[in-house]
Amino acid sequence: MKIAILRERLAGEKRVAATPETVGKLKALGADVAVEAGAGEGSRILDAQYAEAGAVIAPAAEAAVKGADIVLVVRRPEAGSLKGAAKGALVIGALDPYGNEGEVAALAKAGVSAFAMEFMPRITRAQVMDILSSQANLAGYQAVIEASAAFERALPMMMTAAGTVRPAKAFVMGAGVAGLQAIATAKRLGAVVSATDVRAAAGEQVESLGAKFIMTDALKDASGEGGYARELTADEQAAQQALVASHIAKQDIVITTALIPGRPAPRLVTRAMVESMAAGSVIVDLAAERGGNVELTRPGEVIVHNGVTIIGFTNLAGRIPTTASQLYARNLLAFIETLVDKETKALAVNWDDELVKATALTRDGAVVHPAFAKAAA
Ligand code: NAD
Repeated sequence: MKIAILRERLAGEKRVAATPETVGKLKALGADVAVEAGAGEGSRILDAQYAEAGAVIAPAAEAAVKGADIVLVVRRPEAGSLKGAAKGALVIGALDPYGNEGEVAALAKAGVSAFAMEFMPRITRAQVMDILSSQANLAGYQAVIEASAAFERALPMMMTAAGTVRPAKAFVMGAGVAGLQAIATAKRLGAVVSATDVRAAAGEQVESLGAKFIMTDALKDASGEGGYARELTADEQAAQQALVASHIAKQDIVITTALIPGRPAPRLVTRAMVESMAAGSVIVDLAAERGGNVELTRPGEVIVHNGVTIIGFTNLAGRIPTTASQLYARNLLAFIETLVDKETKALAVNWDDELVKATALTRDGAVVHPAFAKAAA
């Protein structure tokens, strides 16, 4: 069994799908591992460190992929770059299939079995493989680091001989995985933190982190399926807006993380709300990639409006690539462990396993995932 690790092609993507630690564990599973030269550079991992862990360094992608049974990536590779892989080779990564149906069909045509790790079910057994959680957690952390760098003021209260510095006020909108880590990070840095969410259950979690939970009486609970939020009704939305409008004007830092599965990001912060904030305040919009929670967000950009900085970076976890790669690589390793027979040390995919069913996009030349198979037919 040969496993290939490719260097990422997307501009600015510094993460990598395996680390020397996971290479060692893949070797222990019985695999030969080939790492494309320079694959770890963005995450500060040297080729020599992969080699020390037992990998062969391939001078180019072609050599790494040649004869590979599994190809590990962060982002979806071009189908053409997988030429030479073993027939039916598994390609595993964050394949981002929505809106990219043509590319998914191309992967099917290339004869590989592609697995989208972001579709991993959020069940106990698969927690260790949950790339959405591992990366969202880091994005929440990094959002506060970026905010504090742009804020140009101290976050904690400081009582000094030269006088007292008041603590910064931080407001986190959406208290899921990313939001809770943003709350914890802002608290650690000494900010006075408040947060809101539309799921009532989030309130307890926010308060357990020492932050104040803000929610209107009009909005009792908008929990949807599977622990996610549902879209708000027009009345609920109006109530939320009124609450946020009065609160946000007093905030120094706002981190927005609100998402609804399969929908564009909900609009939470209007232009008028931004204009109500003091110059020097900072907003980080973690939902930028899905359209943004803030009316003025420009995905991938940092803008300043009326003195308020709005950060719309789309890959915040990728801005701490070394840690992000470490966790991402472990997520992938845990999934691969379920695909290999421990006795024979050969690939043994159980196509009836719910983890495989949920993540498999393509198989035997066809698009097989129910969300995409029809469009591809
Ligand atoms: P997400 O990224 O889909 O959304 C982020 C947050 O935004 C959520 O908390 C959501 O309630 C909130 N939100 C949506 N609309 C909003 C609005 N209009 N205003 C304010 N907030 C709004 O969520 P997530 O971080 O992936 O987590 C969702 C849930 O899944 C949580 O309950 C989490 O505990 C759970 N979870 C479970 C597992 C597991 O069991 N393995 C793993 C991860 C997360």
